[in-house]
Amino acid sequence: MRLKKHLGQHLLVAGGVIARIAQLIDPKEDEVLVEIGPGTGNLTREVLKYPFRELHLLEVDPSMVERLREELRDVRISIHLVDATDFEFCTLGEDLKVFGNLPYNVASLIVENTVLNHKCIYQAVYMLQKEVAEKLQKGSSWLSTFVRTFYSLDYLMSLPARFFLPPPKVQSALVRLSRKEDLPRVDLRDYKNFLTNLYAMKRKSLKKKIQENLLLELGLDPMLRVEALNPEEVLLLYNMTKS
Ligand code: SAH
Repeated sequence: MRLKKHLGQHLLVAGGVIARIAQLIDPKEDEVLVEIGPGTGNLTREVLKYPFRELHLLEVDPSMVERLREELRDVRISIHLVDATDFEFCTLGEDLKVFGNLPYNVASLIVENTVLNHKCIYQAVYMLQKEVAEKLQKGSSWLSTFVRTFYSLDYLMSLPARFFLPPPKVQSALVRLSRKEDLPRVDLRDYKNFLTNLYAMKRKSLKKKIQENLLLELGLDPMLRVEALNPEEVLLLYNMTKS
């Protein structure tokens, strides 16, 4: 089989690790699961050993889909030939647990789409490029704040390139997004716009981007840069600009 580089096809091949990932996904009896980029189904097969209600596979490569349809015969599975970067997850259920060894070239877009669908995704376990995982967890970027407004993020483990076939040029990491209890009610597109503007030109002080009196009202030094703010403060600022 020829793997397609432009689709980020790096298969997980280390059995012990695959079993550990399935454990961390922790499928449960009543759950509706969604896997992004099942590829040849290495992780899928491990997950099939667990109890759960439904498993939806989202795969963009028609030849992978065809192969999965032939090889995976389990009544709980539905296979969808779709693009996970703009897929409407909420069409599959209201309470989804999502997982996947993501195609790294579009991993950020998939994470963004997860947030856009957060109303019906309560947990996601994703394999990402290590650098991207670290930035999401600790960094200061619009996407990191977008994610951390709705989810708490746990860094589960790092994985060396040799666990994949072919080995990617980068290190990998597994992260878990767990949806927060108290979700802010914001217009997601508008909030995203606010964040992308706020995090553009990061070296500029906050007062160049936000009215100074709003910053002072929140006790924030107008000379600070955006990277000094935590996601809670950013959300407060957003809400103030809207009221
Ligand atoms: N999960 C498999 C393969 C991971 S490789 C394993 O662990 O072995 C990434 C997979 O994502 C590939 O199968 C690739 O075809 C698929 N993919 C790439 N872009 C995608 C997209 N936009 N939407 C859904 N799947 C995609």
